[in-house]
Amino acid sequence: MNQIDLNKYLINIRRELHKIPETAFNEIKTSNLIEQELNSFGINTFRPLETAVVGIIGNINNPCIAFRADIDGLPMEEDTGLPFSSTHKGRMHACGHDFHISMLLGAAKYLKQYEEELNICIKLLFQPAEEMIPGGAKLMVEAGVLKNPDVQFVFGQHIHPEKQVGRIEIAVGPALASSDEMYWTIKGKSSHAATPHFGHDPILASANMIANLQNIITKYRNPLKPSVLSITSIHGGTATNILPEEVKLMGTFRAFDDKWRYETIDNIRHISSSICRAYNCESIFEPKMGFPAVINDITASDIAKEAAIRKIGDENFSNCDPMMWGEDFAYFANEVPSCFWFLGVKNQPNMPALHNVKLSPDENALIIGSNMFINIALNNTVLSNIFK
Ligand SMILES: [Zn+2]
Ligand SMILES: [Zn+2]
Repeated sequence: MNQIDLNKYLINIRRELHKIPETAFNEIKTSNLIEQELNSFGINTFRPLETAVVGIIGNINNPCIAFRADIDGLPMEEDTGLPFSSTHKGRMHACGHDFHISMLLGAAKYLKQYEEELNICIKLLFQPAEEMIPGGAKLMVEAGVLKNPDVQFVFGQHIHPEKQVGRIEIAVGPALASSDEMYWTIKGKSSHAATPHFGHDPILASANMIANLQNIITKYRNPLKPSVLSITSIHGGTATNILPEEVKLMGTFRAFDDKWRYETIDNIRHISSSICRAYNCESIFEPKMGFPAVINDITASDIAKEAAIRKIGDENFSNCDPMMWGEDFAYFANEVPSCFWFLGVKNQPNMPALHNVKLSPDENALIIGSNMFINIALNNTVLSNIFK
């Protein structure tokens, strides 16, 4: 298979996958299609989880690296108008995971031809449930996919709608933030709005709590360490003349430093209950700890950088700032040196963002992303020097 045939394959399989998005841990048709494709290339597979597929290329006695693609879609109704739009109502590949799967399948098909020449073993990790805590990556690591043979580097990628198609960028070191979910119930005492002195107003307590929590970012945080605390939902009350019994809030906390992350969760609990107590209300704070931060290893990033430059040239590659997105690739990167790069898919000024019902990434990026895996596996001087 040459590059022209590879490109055709990538576009076809991407459109097939785009039609059948499935949500986290329900990727039945998707994982079956992946396994069927890999087997048709002559690649042996196994399933560490019901909807996770692992394939192996090359001699397992060689040093081993892994490539990862996440495979789940989102519970959204597609509105792209594409002829190959989702056929699953209320489901859409709006995070580009159809791209991620295709690029890895294409690379697997291509690399299988060179299996005899490879001086490495490659594990192909098709991972379910990136979009839902606890995420499929953690479960795959626990199922032992990085062992027997032991994986020495993991590589993965994400399409990036703010970066031009043709570009690849890497944030070396901190790349993507930890993302923890926060839930509060503020309990007060309901009263008539005209007699607030007979109640304890949870709305006023919540308002002050929200304002005060932002002090964590401005006054507790080392200004050199990026972090975000956003309250994204507040619900309470039913009428103009009743102060409600309780208010419910939700939010997200993101950071790169685990020590700061856990300290902050404790501080949020402490500040929430202190502020609410001042209003005779009670704060019940229930954080749901999410994915850790993705930290890109310097050597793994050098390997990926060489692969990128070989495909797109120096002028289209650059290092970039970290993003505050969350990604469960972090669980692989926590175990072994890893690199997770951003693949440009932007082809219009007002490109819809990830998780937008109109997202339509530029398919010209497919061959670039697929060649990233190929150029890491074949003739990569940084990798060969490590494994020589
Ligand atoms: Zn997503
Ligand atoms: Zn994603």
